[in-house]
Amino acid sequence: TRRKFVAANWKMNGLRADLPEIEGIAAAAAAHDGVDVAVCVPFTLIEAAARVAPGLPIGAQDCHDADWGAHTGCVAAPMLVEAGARTVIVGHSERRGDQNETSQDAWGKAAAAHRHGLNVILCCGETEAERDAGRAERVVQAQIEKSVPDDAAARWFTLAYEPRWAIGTGRTPTLEEISSIHAIARAKLRQLVGDEARGIRILYGGSVTGANAGAILSAPDVDGALVGGASLTAAKFVPIIEAAA
Ligand code: 13P
Repeated sequence: TRRKFVAANWKMNGLRADLPEIEGIAAAAAAHDGVDVAVCVPFTLIEAAARVAPGLPIGAQDCHDADWGAHTGCVAAPMLVEAGARTVIVGHSERRGDQNETSQDAWGKAAAAHRHGLNVILCCGETEAERDAGRAERVVQAQIEKSVPDDAAARWFTLAYEPRWAIGTGRTPTLEEISSIHAIARAKLRQLVGDEARGIRILYGGSVTGANAGAILSAPDVDGALVGGASLTAAKFVPIIEAAA
């Protein structure tokens, strides 16, 4: 059976003044050792966050597919490792939207991260127009097919389903809609990596809060949550950890 995994995505939020929130989250994570917890912070906070919370896996929100080179403004996987990151989010819809990243890009980033021993949270999810057109399932299947490395293994790889229209909007799919996409995603993973797909966790992301986490986390095929806005303070995020426990 798959352990629940609750990951925080701080996006472009967080200064040193926010480190006490990391400490609060770390304390709750330590108190609930049946749940895996990670906090993905801006690059600038990785080292400090790893220092104040040595037991809590700290992550980044992107990495380059190359290990080094002439790529102004980019950050490579070995740099994340050196800073103290243990995991990285790739293919987030805000990267796809703001930086025109593709599923192919996410594939390269996931492979680079894995080469350097980082865990990977790879995101997929349809837009509202795609859902309205009845294409959500096909879009997610195609994203998975193009972005999941063929050696993806449960030990280091997690998939996150984040419908774009549910991110930061307070709107969520129904539990049936979430479970249905997760089941389709797992079937696609099985085609790609075989039996290993059984152990790979699939997180739901998009307007998860302490109020809806209990229901979402107990929906069939939901193995955890990737949380944005409600992960920025311990007060908001700890109830989500507790809901997973
Ligand atoms: P919100 O929880 O703010 O909707 O963000 C979800 C998300 O994009 C996490 O990666």
